[in-house]
Amino acid sequence: MTAAFETHEVFNQSPPFEDVDLFGSDRPLQDAVAANGAGGASKSLAEFGQRWGAASMLDAARVANEHTPELKSFDAKGHRRDIVEFHPAYHQFMAESMRAGLHGATWGDDGQPADAPAEVVRSARFYMAAQVEQGHLCPITMTRASVGALAAEPAVRDRLLPKILSRHYDPSFRPWWEKSGITLGMGMTEKQGGTDVRANTTRANPSEDGYGITGHKWFLSAPMCDAFLVLAQAPGGLTCFLMPRFRPDGSTNALRVQRLKDKLGNRSNASSEVEFADAFAWRVGEEGKGVRTIIQMVQLTRLDCAVSSAGFMRMALAQALHHCRHRSVFQRRLVDQPMMRAVLADMALEVEGAIALVMRLCRSFDLAPTDSLEAERARLLTPAVKYWICKRAPAFVYEAMECLGGNGYVEDGMLARLYREAPVNAIWEGSGNVMGLDVLRAVARSPQSAQAVLGAMLRKTGDLPGVAETARSIERFFAKPAESHARRMVEALALIAALEAMADSAPPEVTESFARTRLVDSRSANFGTADLGEGEAARLLERALPA
Ligand SMILES: Cc1cc2nc3c(=O)[nH]c(=O)nc-3n(C[C@H](O)[C@H](O)[C@H](O)COP(=O)(O)OP(=O)(O)OC[C@H]3O[C@@H](n4cnc5c(N)ncnc54)[C@H](O)[C@@H]3O)c2cc1C
Repeated sequence: MTAAFETHEVFNQSPPFEDVDLFGSDRPLQDAVAANGAGGASKSLAEFGQRWGAASMLDAARVANEHTPELKSFDAKGHRRDIVEFHPAYHQFMAESMRAGLHGATWGDDGQPADAPAEVVRSARFYMAAQVEQGHLCPITMTRASVGALAAEPAVRDRLLPKILSRHYDPSFRPWWEKSGITLGMGMTEKQGGTDVRANTTRANPSEDGYGITGHKWFLSAPMCDAFLVLAQAPGGLTCFLMPRFRPDGSTNALRVQRLKDKLGNRSNASSEVEFADAFAWRVGEEGKGVRTIIQMVQLTRLDCAVSSAGFMRMALAQALHHCRHRSVFQRRLVDQPMMRAVLADMALEVEGAIALVMRLCRSFDLAPTDSLEAERARLLTPAVKYWICKRAPAFVYEAMECLGGNGYVEDGMLARLYREAPVNAIWEGSGNVMGLDVLRAVARSPQSAQAVLGAMLRKTGDLPGVAETARSIERFFAKPAESHARRMVEALALIAALEAMADSAPPEVTESFARTRLVDSRSANFGTADLGEGEAARLLERALPA
């Protein structure tokens, strides 16, 4: 019992949203997992959902973001240290995520993709983890994605792989071979260009046992990772390298952390500016093939951006709905006020589309090694889905924040943190326009494949409202692509893909509503304007979070 105030009683505040089963309370997630071949993992996903939805985890996430990482450049005697200290709460999340395999469960012991539905199962966990603590997922996603790029240099990959796939988090600052588990980061962006990595000025000179890298990176997140995939100009052109924190002789490598970025959000995670002073590195892939090599990693981190932004939306919706079910205004619960109900139902419909879309895309990654159409689907749709979901998330979280009124805006609750976090997924790993360019590249590379992917999606969605007309506009675009229209086409593509996914996982009425309200009805930019009947609203809200 909390002590009463002398002056007033506290009432009509929603109870804390904690000790929630993040899987069992999320019907659209359960349906999407089952529809994409991972129903057999439901029990372990429910255990994960209960563990991550515990009050203690939610509080640890707050603490990890309030006590931000600190750079320790030197020791007491003036020697360089270049280490970053994190709060124990951050380490707790790293240990939890690595124990659950979020950093590597999609790879087999041989570095090849693990059998289906590994991608779907791991992403379902990633989606739940993103609802709780977002910052630590940066090194987690980079570690898992790095294996994709390391495939270009099997000898290097095979030496590191047992440490990468280890489920043990080892935060000690020691050479990688002495540690029980390691994490990997990535450095591409320089001061003069992030998107345009060909403008990289960092140089790589061949040495006896590897290369010496000299230059800088303007963004290098999670600088306490044990090694980094970096791009640098070798004699044969832009090349991918793996730079460990320690040289093979056990001395610290010349990776100098200049300062930590003061970021809008993503505060539990450190993002640094670094210089390399003839730092040791191994080449990964051929000289001159740096972009082609590292793109194997980036494709996977882009997928994770979409999954985690869908997670942000899910958590924001759950918080909003929970609050509105408990808060009364004018003697009526907010959830029963018609205009608020319209807002919540429209947001629930949006999350139905988002979760179905990302899980179906994960299924494509699962099937890609043995199914060429699924491989083409993953290639074409990953940038489209990243574009769509990561751009929807900030506006979505803002609307959810408003559902909580003033409480949404203060740091005691989670919405303020989610709001500051949301834009980053749209910016890093290729910003919005860059995703549009990447879809264009996929279409130009193989118009037939793009058409085949669209055709497959239409087989399931062709009868839904607005789909035929939208598909015609996409086909016109495929025939005559134009950068200035790319955003419009990418959005249309993502919506058709969402509908295809929902056709397999959501109730038909929900899929129909999504098609009608997203493709046919003229919409305002704000949530709450979709024309949904009372029965539809009730169904959506109950699926989103059982009352
Ligand atoms: C918190 C945080 C952490 C990060 N961590 C890392 C990291 O660990 N490693 C790393 O390498 N990078 C990291 N980055 C950098 C990030 O990947 C880049 O900021 C991003 O790729 C954009 O590059 P840029 O900042 O150089 O912007 P620019 O490349 O200058 O782009 C600016 C804008 O122009 C748009 N644009 C670019 N080209 C075109 C075009 N042809 N047509 C139309 N529009 C275009 C882009 O979409 C973008 O909106 C991080 C960034 C942030 C915010």
